[in-house]
Amino acid sequence: MNGVANISLASESRLGRISFIDLPAQQRRIRTAVERRIQTVLDHGRYIAGPEIDELEERLAERAGAAAAVTCASGTAALIIPLFALGVGAGDAVFIPAFTYNATANAVLVTGATPVFIDIDPATFNIDPRDLKAQIAAVRAEGKLTPKVVIPVDMFGSPADYPAISALAAEEGLSVLSDAAQSFGGALGPRKVGNLATATSTSFFPGKALGAYGDAGAIFAQNADDVEKWTSIRWHGTDQLRKTSVRVGFNGRMDTFQAAVLLEKLNIFDDELAARHHIADVYNTRLSPIARPQRHLPGAVSGSAYYSLCVANRDDVVARVNEMGVPTAIYYTTPLHKMPAFEPYAPEGGLPATEQVCKEIFSLPMHPYLTPDQVDYICGVVEEAAGV
Ligand SMILES: *Cc1c(COP(=O)(O)O)cnc(C)c1O
Repeated sequence: MNGVANISLASESRLGRISFIDLPAQQRRIRTAVERRIQTVLDHGRYIAGPEIDELEERLAERAGAAAAVTCASGTAALIIPLFALGVGAGDAVFIPAFTYNATANAVLVTGATPVFIDIDPATFNIDPRDLKAQIAAVRAEGKLTPKVVIPVDMFGSPADYPAISALAAEEGLSVLSDAAQSFGGALGPRKVGNLATATSTSFFPGKALGAYGDAGAIFAQNADDVEKWTSIRWHGTDQLRKTSVRVGFNGRMDTFQAAVLLEKLNIFDDELAARHHIADVYNTRLSPIARPQRHLPGAVSGSAYYSLCVANRDDVVARVNEMGVPTAIYYTTPLHKMPAFEPYAPEGGLPATEQVCKEIFSLPMHPYLTPDQVDYICGVVEEAAGV
């Protein structure tokens, strides 16, 4: 396609460098405000549990439509803390997708529980409620483990099928812990991410849609009892005076500097999310005829942390797209059940949909500072590479 080749030559002078995510552009926008916030922390000196932590927890809970938010050290800590609170441990089964970041499985294993890998829906890339039902039955039939928790992961920002999962969990007596590390800002119908499960964990790793300048995370609660337990666990399992250990805990706190940064990032988050949604709409319109973009559930609003799509000849397409100056990422080339650390938990017969998606998926640049010209160029390059 000559047209695209011409665009590509023009792009180097006209479009500048295209970034997969662009934290420097975001920083230019908020730099002065962030410096002011950091100075305030330097002045008051409460590096742990400073007033910014309380302010952030209130603002996060409000944005997520949750009763409360408990900030913590990372997205991984945000998964471990509620699992500890549930008393999950050796002999318990925790159901998770294998198409996720390793933290989801690590959080289960550090409690002593056993991860049971569930296949995904090949269109939404999220945990398949039908396979979940089948695997719960299989675990019960085998009689070695007790089904305790399911952790749906909202891949790339798109909420999992919480209505189906919650109904099944209620029937089976399981707790639902949402891994919303990628989906802060999303929603399903009238309910926001943060209020789709009893407990919702999110990550503020710098590369997530709402990112700190270091490691940070939060857990969204629906009741005071959970808040009390999680707050204790993140502070070495102590009581409210923080002296006596009343349960097993660890240091799972967010530090005040990260809260200060996140408060300024939260101020522009909705504006940034609107820009992400606009870009995702353009990608969907242009690329649906030639590829399979992630499908969202009816009524879902994605947190749009990443934009991912499947093509049959993925490696060729990605090589060509990169050649044309468009950066890509692959989340994930290897499903968890094929990684050495988690292979002992691999289901017999594998996970066909997960394995197929890992061969076909890749992610395009997704950040609020992409220009319309860049988005148009990226679409043209993918169209050409996918062989239109
Ligand atoms: C990033 C991520 C995590 C872990 O978050 P950290 O803040 O890096 O600990 C967990 N689950 C998923 C799905 C993630 O993408």
